[in-house]
Amino acid sequence: MRREQMLRNLRDRREPWDIVVIGGGATGMGVAVDAAARGLSVVLLEAHDFGKGTSSRSTKLVHGGVRYLEQGNIPLVMSALKERGLMRQNAPHLVHDLAFIVPNYSWWEAPFYGIGLKLYDLLAGKYGFGASKLLSKAETLERLPALEPENLLGGVVYYDGQFDDARLLIHLAMTAADHGGTLVNYCPATGLMRDADGYVNGVTARDEETGEELSIPARMVVNATGVFTDSVRRMADPDAETLVVTSQGIHLVFDRSFLKGDTALMVPKTSDGRVLFVIPWHGHAVAGTTDTPVDAPSLEPRPLEEEIEFVLETAARFFVRPPSRADVLAVFVGLRPLVKGEGKTSALSRDHVIHVDTSGLLTITGGKWTTYRHMAEDAVDHAITLGKLPDAECTTKNLRIHGYAANSAELGSLEVYGSDAEAIRTLAQEPALGAQLHPALPYLAAEVVWAVRAEMARTVEDVLARHTRALFLNAEAAIAMAEPVARLLAAELGRDDAWVAAQVKEFVELAQQYRVV
Ligand SMILES: Cc1cc2nc3c(=O)[nH]c(=O)nc-3n(C[C@H](O)[C@H](O)[C@H](O)COP(=O)(O)OP(=O)(O)OC[C@H]3O[C@@H](n4cnc5c(N)ncnc54)[C@H](O)[C@@H]3O)c2cc1C
Repeated sequence: MRREQMLRNLRDRREPWDIVVIGGGATGMGVAVDAAARGLSVVLLEAHDFGKGTSSRSTKLVHGGVRYLEQGNIPLVMSALKERGLMRQNAPHLVHDLAFIVPNYSWWEAPFYGIGLKLYDLLAGKYGFGASKLLSKAETLERLPALEPENLLGGVVYYDGQFDDARLLIHLAMTAADHGGTLVNYCPATGLMRDADGYVNGVTARDEETGEELSIPARMVVNATGVFTDSVRRMADPDAETLVVTSQGIHLVFDRSFLKGDTALMVPKTSDGRVLFVIPWHGHAVAGTTDTPVDAPSLEPRPLEEEIEFVLETAARFFVRPPSRADVLAVFVGLRPLVKGEGKTSALSRDHVIHVDTSGLLTITGGKWTTYRHMAEDAVDHAITLGKLPDAECTTKNLRIHGYAANSAELGSLEVYGSDAEAIRTLAQEPALGAQLHPALPYLAAEVVWAVRAEMARTVEDVLARHTRALFLNAEAAIAMAEPVARLLAAELGRDDAWVAAQVKEFVELAQQYRVV
C-alpha cells in the first residue's frame, strides 16, 4: 500500500464512489474489505493511523463472550463463536487458540463454571476450539504455575481465540487494497456533502500531511467512527440524538514471569462483578480490563488511578507473587462504543447496531472485534439496498486475509506477517536492517522499513504502537527505540533532521502516558 497512490486514486476519480467509509478501525475496515471483495468501488478515510482508536486497544480475545452466556444472550454468543471460527480459518497467522483456566476456590465453582463452559462448547458446534474440562488442583497448578495455591480446589479449562488486533487491522487494510479498495490514513472527514433534497452524497476531507482539501462524491456514506459516531452524525444533523455512550477499559502489561506457561487466567467475577483476564501475549502477560463510564471520547484516553489499583489488587489475589506498580511495563486504554440504553455501562448492548439517519447517512457501531466481519456484511447489505448499488453477494466468510499462511508458527517472531515474512527476511539481509532495535523486544530495523513501504506507516508512533506493538508491551523500551526508528522513517520518507527531532519529542511525550510511575 502506498499513500501517494491512494491519494491519486481519490483525485483521479470523477464519478461517485459506491461507498465512502469514515473510520479506519475494525468496523470500517471490515466494511471496506467486504465492499471491495464484492467488486464495489470503496474508499476509506481514517483521521489518524489505521487502528489508532479502540481497535488496537482490545483485550486481544477472539471470543464468544463467556460473560454474555451468564446474561442469557445466546444468539450473540453463538454468532460470535461462529465468527471466532471464521477468523481463525481466514487469518491463521494472526488468530490462535488459547487455553483459559477459571480457578476454583469455592466448592460450587467447579460445577457452576463447568456446566456453563460445557454449554459454551456446545454453542460453538463445528466452530469449537477444544472441549472444556474440570482439572484437579495439581493439574491446574501444572498449567498455571504462578497461581495462588492456598485454598485452591481445582479449575476449569476452556478454549477461546487470541489475536494481535492492530496487526489484523493492517492486514485487513491490505486485503481491501488487494481487492481494489482505496484507503487513506491521516485524512479526516471534515464534512458531509448534500444534494438538493438534503441527502448525503459525499464527504469532504483533509489530507493532514499537505492540508489539501478533498471532495469525495459517494452513493453511500458509511459512518464507522466508534466512540466518535455521534460527532459524524451531527455533521449531517446537528440535532441528532446521542446513539453511542463510551466506557473505558485499561490493561496492564507485565513480563511473562507473572503467568508462566501458555495458559491464560480468567476470573469470572471480580469484587465488583466484572470479568478479568490475564493472558500471555507476545512474550508478556496482559491483565485487564475495567469498565468505567467516560463523558467525552478521545483518541488517547488516560488510565484512572483507581483502575490501575483495581487491576493490580485483583491480580494480586490470584498470583503467588503479587504484581506491583513497579512491575508494570505498559498501560493501555481503550474506549468501548456502547449503544445507548439505561443503567450501568456493562449492562448496555454489546450487539451491533445499524442506524440510518434521515439524511441517508448509514451508521454502524457497537459489536466487538470478533464480530467485525458479520457487522460489515450487514452494513454492506444495507448500503446496497439503500444506495441502489450493484447487487453482489458477500464473499468474506471464506476470504483469506492478506498474509494468510497455514504454517505461520514456523515464522518465529515474524509470524504476524504471515506470507509477507519472507519479504521482511530479505530486507533484513541488508546489514543495516538486520539489527534488533532493542534487546527486550524482537523487532528488527527491517520491520520499520517494511511498515513504511508496504503498510503505510507515517510516524514513529505508527511503527511503535501498531505496526510493531513495542509501546503496548514495554513503554520504556519503545522510548529507547524512538530515535533509531525516526531515522529509518526519515530515510524512507525523505524527511530532515528537524522532522526526526520533532517525531522523537512527540513520541516520547505520548509514551509517558503508557508508563505507570
Ligand atoms: C478495553 C476494551 C477491550 C476490548 N476487548 C475486546 C476483545 O478482547 N475482543 C473483542 O472482540 N472485542 C473487544 N473490544 C471491543 C472492540 O475493540 C471494539 O468493538 C472495536 O475495536 C470497535 O471498532 P470500531 O472500528 O467501531 O472503532 P475504532 O477502532 O475506535 O475506530 C474508529 C475510527 O474512526 C476514526 N475517526 C473518528 N472520526 C473520524 C473522522 N471524522 N474521519 C475519519 N476517521 C475518523 C478514529 O480515528 C478511529 O480510528 C474491546 C473494547 C475495549 C474498549
